[in-house]
Amino acid sequence: MTRAEHIRALLEDYARQRALNEEDQQRRFREAVEKAPRIAELRQESAELALSAMRSIISGHTEAERRAVAENMKARGLAINAEMRALVRDAGFPEDQLEPRYRCPVCRDTGYVGEAPARFCECFEARLRRRQYEDGTMAGADRQNFERFDASLIPEADGQREQLIKHRRLCETYADQYPDFPYPNLLLTGGGGLGKTFLLNCVYERVISRGYSAIRITAFRMFEAMRQQHVGNDESYQGFAALIEVPLLLIDDLGTEPMMRNITVEYLFTLLNERAANRRHTVIATNLSPVELKERYGERVASRVLDRSACATLKFTGKDLRKV
Ligand SMILES: [Zn+2]
Repeated sequence: MTRAEHIRALLEDYARQRALNEEDQQRRFREAVEKAPRIAELRQESAELALSAMRSIISGHTEAERRAVAENMKARGLAINAEMRALVRDAGFPEDQLEPRYRCPVCRDTGYVGEAPARFCECFEARLRRRQYEDGTMAGADRQNFERFDASLIPEADGQREQLIKHRRLCETYADQYPDFPYPNLLLTGGGGLGKTFLLNCVYERVISRGYSAIRITAFRMFEAMRQQHVGNDESYQGFAALIEVPLLLIDDLGTEPMMRNITVEYLFTLLNERAANRRHTVIATNLSPVELKERYGERVASRVLDRSACATLKFTGKDLRKV
């Protein structure tokens, strides 16, 4: 799906949500009226009041007469609201029983905030990012979470089990304390099949389930976003910008993406540098050793990835778990 298609689908989802909100509000109104029938009368009177305010404006009364009518109506309106609130409270309902309730109070489930030209609400942006990066290659990855970690499947030899249990604990602490873990970044490094991707997905699931916004992406797809950005494709420009701006970015399999001159290293540096400068958090899993990282990306990128002051490094060793 393109970004435009995701936006259209999301806007439909928001419209459905508003319809649900409306139904929910009406259901709560009926519930209240059942206990306190007077509420229905007051609602009716309030509607009529609004109607007669309209009539008064077009009736041709003098300015002073209109003002007197308006003031009477305002006072009556306030009295109606006060009586309704008291009835709701006395009937044992929560104070907002008759009010609309929103999934996102910031945008009132419209997806937009601000005056024209409005922009997307943060809740909308977060959903959009998730949709864009979760369709396709990441299918199935959401099955992976800390609860499914099974230490009995890991060979005990050479301390591999002990090591992975330690790494799991650190990753879980990182995810639970996010964004306040002592290090903003994690680097998971070691051979294939040692559990790096699994733990990266676990971190993602936990952080998302705590309500934070994050993007998980393979280096290959990240490279695609960079390449599209490089050739000036507007839609993907948004994709690359999202990678820079998301509060937590999790990059899997760094080192497996194609190496294109003027693209891979430059964009990767821009990405990591911008993120570090804005104190955003990044988790990277890679099969490359620190030496190989330097060889592949050069000193500038490697020093960002390996920055000891900002990054906790987890080294994975042992037997490929897919083969044991
Ligand atoms: Zn919102």
